[in-house]
Amino acid sequence: MNLEKIMTDLEKKHPGEAEYLQAVREVLESIQDVYNENPQFESAHIIERLVEPDRILTFKVCWTDDNGNVQVNQGYRVQFNNAIGPYKGGLRFHPSVNLSILKFLGFEQIFKNSLTTLPMGGAKGGSDFDPKGKSNAEVMRFCQAFMLELWKVIGPETDVPAGDIGVGGREIGFLYGMYKKLARENTGVLTGKGLNWGGSLIRPEATGFGAVYFAEEMLKTKNQSLKGKTVAISGFGNVAWGAATKATELGAKVVTISGPDGYIYDPDGISGEKIDYMLELRASNQDIVKPYSYEYPNAKFHQGKRPWEVKCDIAMPCATQNELDKKDAELLIKNGVFCVTEVANMPCTPEAMEVFLDSKILYGPSKAVNAGGVATSGLEMSQNAMKLSWPKEEVDQRLHHIMKSIHESCEKYGKGKDGYVNYVKGANVAGFLKVANAMLDQGIL
Ligand code: NDP
Repeated sequence: MNLEKIMTDLEKKHPGEAEYLQAVREVLESIQDVYNENPQFESAHIIERLVEPDRILTFKVCWTDDNGNVQVNQGYRVQFNNAIGPYKGGLRFHPSVNLSILKFLGFEQIFKNSLTTLPMGGAKGGSDFDPKGKSNAEVMRFCQAFMLELWKVIGPETDVPAGDIGVGGREIGFLYGMYKKLARENTGVLTGKGLNWGGSLIRPEATGFGAVYFAEEMLKTKNQSLKGKTVAISGFGNVAWGAATKATELGAKVVTISGPDGYIYDPDGISGEKIDYMLELRASNQDIVKPYSYEYPNAKFHQGKRPWEVKCDIAMPCATQNELDKKDAELLIKNGVFCVTEVANMPCTPEAMEVFLDSKILYGPSKAVNAGGVATSGLEMSQNAMKLSWPKEEVDQRLHHIMKSIHESCEKYGKGKDGYVNYVKGANVAGFLKVANAMLDQGIL
């Protein structure tokens, strides 16, 4: 593989798509050896075919706000690769959404979905619409207008979207209602649905729970556990909530949460009623981080700062891409962190990743750590197809089993001669091999 040539060609074709190019480079760097050992990949041009999405749908979303003003947003669906199953990946509603971000997320999703052991291809979509500060009626009108276009390219056996930043249960409900009306079918076309209409138990907390199960497996390799460990978490959305809940349940103390404007340090631990309190604030569309420090006076709000300056054993970035840079990584190492699990997608910059790998600490990349979310979406699809719903314990047990199996795959392909497990390499190689071999089996498409 001529990595530099591939990257130069891609940069020429997709100038300025920084996040997408960053994600491609990271994967290609780690699969280079296995790619070169298998000349059949090169002759079938697997890489050239894998780095380009199968298709991209972009569309205009027109809706009317509560004051009667017409609003126009941009909508997208990036269908990246369906070698091992229907396209699958979340929808993100956030003002920062652009094609580069969705292509990076869709590309990552291919390997993540492959790791889950379930038959799902990779995709991503979304809009630059910002649900923050909008009324329920505005969110509903936007979701309906968005689905008016999206429904043409999705279906329970072709492409199954889910939530992501800015798309939770409320948005999935509005999107599903409109799809059902247009397609005249009641199928599992979206995951993350409400429990009364086809959703799966555990799905809302699955990404965070899965991440903690993965961290547990990593710690076991060092004869350690979460018990008594101090954990720093960033963000406080769907994913952070699940991670904080499960980490606390397994005996760790979560001491931080954050928002774009700063972080909270709570030396007493963020658990139980404090998590419930934040969920209430979130449900009522309010700012979470500052009110928390007023409600719990021992907690301190650090304006404009990130939580990575706090002394902790485990760091779990749960907010967004590139939220932890080289300086943060060096500070964490200096303060004794020994396990970093990426719960958000690509939260560490390439330079930060290098610091963690060079330090040989336990470092879990997002496509392995947060795969529990999409895995449980896959379990929701199975339940929908069978027209039944599994009890909570059964879904949780399957999730736990999947996370253990992802950990085993990472160890299998990531363990070096010195015994150190490079989970980045392990996850990329394991995810890649399955997809690449499926592409070979299915011919040139
Ligand atoms: P949410 O929108 O529910 O939460 C995101 C959280 O991060 C919010 O608390 C948000 O604060 C905060 N945040 C946003 N930007 C920043 C920033 N620059 N600095 C600090 N905090 C910030 O999204 P999710 O929890 O669903 O997703 C979080 C991450 O996890 C994303 O990378 C997503 O792709 C990934 N992920 C999500 C999955 C899921 O099942 N939902 C599955 C797999 C991965 P505020 O609300 O104030 O903006």
